[in-house]
Amino acid sequence: MRCFTQSILILILISIGLLSLSVFAVEYFRPENNSETLQLTVEEQQYLQLKQHITMCVDPDWMPYEKVDEGRHIGIVADFMRLFANKLNIHIEILPNRHWLEELTQGKPRQCDIFSLVMPTPERKQFLDFTQAYFSFPLVVAVNYQEYFIGGINDVLDKKLGIQKDYDYAELLRLQYPDIYLEKVESLDEGLEKVSRNQLYGMIASLPEVSYAFQEQYIGELKIAGKLTQKLNLTMGARNDEPLLVEIFNKAIAQLSEHEQREIINDWISIKYVSETDYELLIKVASVMLLLFVIFMYRYALIRRHNYRLRHLSVTDKLTNINNRMKLDQEIGDALSLAQRYQHHFSIIIIDIDHFKNINDKYGHLVGDYALKALAQLLSNNIRDVDTLGRWGGEEFLIICPGQTLKGGRLMAEKLRTIIDQYPFEYFAHLSCSFGVAAYAKDQNVDILLTRADNALYRAKDLGRNKVCTN
Ligand code: GH3
Ligand code: MG
Ligand code: MG
Repeated sequence: MRCFTQSILILILISIGLLSLSVFAVEYFRPENNSETLQLTVEEQQYLQLKQHITMCVDPDWMPYEKVDEGRHIGIVADFMRLFANKLNIHIEILPNRHWLEELTQGKPRQCDIFSLVMPTPERKQFLDFTQAYFSFPLVVAVNYQEYFIGGINDVLDKKLGIQKDYDYAELLRLQYPDIYLEKVESLDEGLEKVSRNQLYGMIASLPEVSYAFQEQYIGELKIAGKLTQKLNLTMGARNDEPLLVEIFNKAIAQLSEHEQREIINDWISIKYVSETDYELLIKVASVMLLLFVIFMYRYALIRRHNYRLRHLSVTDKLTNINNRMKLDQEIGDALSLAQRYQHHFSIIIIDIDHFKNINDKYGHLVGDYALKALAQLLSNNIRDVDTLGRWGGEEFLIICPGQTLKGGRLMAEKLRTIIDQYPFEYFAHLSCSFGVAAYAKDQNVDILLTRADNALYRAKDLGRNKVCTN
């Protein structure tokens, strides 16, 4: 049993270990790392020298991407920009300006050379060139804690999903999934609030934004339930009237190393893991567990059967297949204890085959063995269920009869004697037995009881055999 419990425990531990593998880490998109050093053309170098510094419009409050905090540009995007400034060896001046697009469309002069984080749209392409993505983040769906994990957007097409008003991805998603049920919200916070109040099923946003919001609020209330295949690409905008700018920054982006990117991301995203049920892996894990369980159960059944057989063998007489001497010793001890405690009666009967030597001598040992087996069967068939029969030794048998007085024991022995005396054995005409019966008497131990039964048996022999004597 202990072995069983230990094995179950090991199985549970293996399962937990395997299941934890099904929680996967979000894979970030990484632009291909170009290990070449930054190789600017002479023209580009001259352009930067003339420029002296570059002005950059940033969003003053879009954490964790960027924010202007007491004049300092902070966030994921800010760190990337610092890296580019280093690589290009140029000073970048920050202009916190959320309304630059409106100003541009209103014909106001260009304030910024570059834009730290801006999505390419046809409208913006009138004024800006766009760089390659310097990083990409998956779009995720934030839902209430008790909701299920989402395998993909197809799982939630019938649900009302929130998306930020000026998120260009709304259009993209609508194009890709005409049935999608999107509701525009003013901000991520408003969307998450609606999710927590069940006014929206989920809110779509990029992973860092959701992670950042979760650090501030919604812990234990909302969770990230799924990752979409769509990504939010971090791209820069560069004024298109100075076309060298976009080329220069593309070179800096191409030279970004995986290590540099990783360092920046790790600094800003504390929730790096999103739990998602990977059904394929789950099925694999479940199959392995099931297989382990079946093997374990099979082995357990084998061991049980083996143990049972061992136990059976250890208490069974090999020839006659009835209880052996060891088992009889135990059973008499138990019967005696019960009789002593509850003042029960019990008696024992010792049976010895008469002139058994003659059978062996006349018919051979094998017939002698047959006689022992046949007699064991005959006795077994004619005793009560509560009685215990066993081979006491050689050609002697013992029966323990719980609840039986001396008189009852004698009657039972007499019945058996008659049955044996009249039984038509196969290889010889006749076989008889002598019986010694003794009943438990108060304060007598097992040895005394056996000796009394033995003495009664001797008397039965003395009286001419095929007799029952009591003591
Ligand atoms: P009695 O009536 O006085 O009991 O005579 P008996 O011949 O039965 O007694 P004795 O003790 O002289 O002989 C017992 C014989 O039982 C001797 C022995 O060879 C035989 N015997 C004991 N165990 C086995 C056995 O497993 N198989 C066979 N075939 N014979 C056995
Ligand atoms: Mg004998
Ligand atoms: Mg004998």
